Amino acid sequence: MRIAHTIAEARAARADLPATCGFVPTMGFLHAGHRTLMDHARAECQSLAISIFVNPTQFGPGEDFERYPRDEVRDLAMCEAAGADLVFMPTVHEMYPAGATTTVTVGGITSVLEGAHRPGHFDGVATVVSKLFHIMQPDRAYFGQKDAQQLLVIRSMVRDLDMPVTIVACPTVREPDGLALSSRNVYLSPEERMQALSLSRGLRQTAAAFTEGVRNAPRLRGIVEREVAAQPLARIDYVSLADADMLAELDGEIVAPALLSMAVRFGRTRLIDNAVLTP
Ligand code: AMP
Repeated sequence: MRIAHTIAEARAARADLPATCGFVPTMGFLHAGHRTLMDHARAECQSLAISIFVNPTQFGPGEDFERYPRDEVRDLAMCEAAGADLVFMPTVHEMYPAGATTTVTVGGITSVLEGAHRPGHFDGVATVVSKLFHIMQPDRAYFGQKDAQQLLVIRSMVRDLDMPVTIVACPTVREPDGLALSSRNVYLSPEERMQALSLSRGLRQTAAAFTEGVRNAPRLRGIVEREVAAQPLARIDYVSLADADMLAELDGEIVAPALLSMAVRFGRTRLIDNAVLTP
């Protein structure tokens, strides 16, 4: 496994990798959710490249960039165990040298949900993923359904800018009690963590109602909203039930795949989770 810290090193190492190359971009503090992306890539591709970079441009002012958890030694051990050929771990200065002024902006779907609550977030995501694709030149890149809107944004960018990479989505990995794995879960106090289970519980309850035939969007949205709002420490940023392609909020009957998604704060920790409801 080669470790590259500079773009030049990454390009040189990439040139030695056989096609097809699978790529997993991450912000590190790796967990089993990241590992499942690596496993999918390893199974489907001849070579596996991973990036670990806490990207400052996708954090807003007052967000957790400075305190975002980091553990380089453990991350590299996980990459090695997953059979990675190359790990790219650049510094902020390497990715954004003084004078860098270009930003990739995806329109449409970035104005709602995460985009509405985190202004500039998806500009940061699209710009860094675009740079990483140019550096790593992957054939296939793997993203988690956990960040459902991010996945749509990346797909739009790749389509609109004719990037020669196949985007592969992998299902959300959860703790046995339902909590979606996230690097940010380490911030949660035991009490917050217990109440955070309301997110996945609400999603399960809504999915069960949907399976039983409930199709009315406000009614379905209300199930998860009530479950989460019942937690004294929960502060809801949004609960959304939107069409799964354009993210337009639904207020009638569900007749096509719909994305049920939410962002909820517990103290200083902001959690997101989602499920797709398919009629
Ligand atoms: P991050 O390091 O949080 O930026 O995430 C890197 C990639 O891992 C993104 O494509 C995420 O969607 C994905 N990911 C994060 N958490 C999970 C999870 N619990 N299950 C599946 N994929 C995940």
